[in-house]
Amino acid sequence: MSTTPTVDDEEAETESESTLATARKQLQRAATNVEVDPAIIERLKHPTRVQQVSVPLEREEGGVDVFTGYRAQHDDVRGPYKGGLRYHPEVTADECTGLSMWMTWKCAVMDLPFGGGKGGIAVDPKSLTDDERERLTRRFAEELRDVVGPTKDVPAPDMGTDAQTMAWFMDAYSMQQGETIPGVVTGKPPVIGGSYGREAAPGRSTAIITREAVDYYDREIADATVAVQGFGSVGANAARLLDDWGATVVAVSDVNGAIYDPDGLDTRAVPTHEEEPEAVLTHEAPETLSNEAVLELDVDVLIPAAVGNVITAGNADAVDADIVVEGANGPTTFAADAILAERDVAVIPDILANAGGVTVSYFEWLQDINRRTWSLERVNEELEEQMLSAWRDVRDEVDARDLTWRDAAYVVALSRVAEAKGARGLWP
Ligand code: GLU
Repeated sequence: MSTTPTVDDEEAETESESTLATARKQLQRAATNVEVDPAIIERLKHPTRVQQVSVPLEREEGGVDVFTGYRAQHDDVRGPYKGGLRYHPEVTADECTGLSMWMTWKCAVMDLPFGGGKGGIAVDPKSLTDDERERLTRRFAEELRDVVGPTKDVPAPDMGTDAQTMAWFMDAYSMQQGETIPGVVTGKPPVIGGSYGREAAPGRSTAIITREAVDYYDREIADATVAVQGFGSVGANAARLLDDWGATVVAVSDVNGAIYDPDGLDTRAVPTHEEEPEAVLTHEAPETLSNEAVLELDVDVLIPAAVGNVITAGNADAVDADIVVEGANGPTTFAADAILAERDVAVIPDILANAGGVTVSYFEWLQDINRRTWSLERVNEELEEQMLSAWRDVRDEVDARDLTWRDAAYVVALSRVAEAKGARGLWP
């Protein structure tokens, strides 16, 4: 890992920059490691389109609020746009665009026949009743009707959305089209065409990649200490699997703070966000810490699995883990990445580590198109196989070219996307 990103002070100071700016910088940097026609790189800095819609909602307490929704479609050279819908107050067109770029790379690293998309509504889902969430989602589906579809663009859950949201979206779309079309979204409940294992998949892949990374650095998973920031679907599933495999999970956290036990927590006894929201601190533990302090623990592996931009130029020097495995999307800023690389901290990127989510989404889409159901065993076996294959592709680049893990993952992804663009050509 001697190839160190060069980041000047000015860049380090623009830490609050948009996700899109980070994604573009990463692409520019990746372009220096791959021989690609500069015209293709220029094209990839821009999304194909960003659909912006207004989503009116009649409030239960009276009156109407109008929320802004987006669907960014970055690139579809390898297949339909694919990626989540998030409900979060800070959703913007730029954020969706940056996140959609990451989906393009994520699908390409995993060698899935999908491109990159991402969308959402700028709304705090906690401020909505269940009924309001349902009506907002159905109206959003109506507004996006022309740009989504099983062969066009296939949304999925992301921050603030879940299987139920996808069920409403699928139902609204199907009713508009006059037929049941389960393949329009993934991450649905299994009873209406969702895949077994989809919900746990991003956490499962994060655990699989952690296990491989620990092994790569000549350690045993049973001897490894792990700290996890975030105890939602990604963090909790990763923590529990690693715990099952013998790792010592010393800390887990949610927005309210962290619990810490140097002898290891019983991760199955700690309530996940889905089981009981924001209840990590209700579990008895020898010590509590702040959510930020988790990032600075002296552990073998740190898994930031909550929100983006948590490891910044401001705290990257304090990260005391040997390996960082990105469970969340974009937890490490561009400047922090450079600092960690300089310090020889291995950072296994989101586009590989949490890609189990979109991989099982692909399995779900296949099941929907073929009207067949796979068993959980089959899903998990095929996920394991696909994760190991992607891991080997990235690891080979790390070994052959002495790149950081992020650079290596980008080399794999960008090469595949650029090759497809070269083969299809620019038209007219
Ligand atoms: N939102 C998830 C992600 O960021 C999953 C996307 C999908 O399954 O399409 O990878």
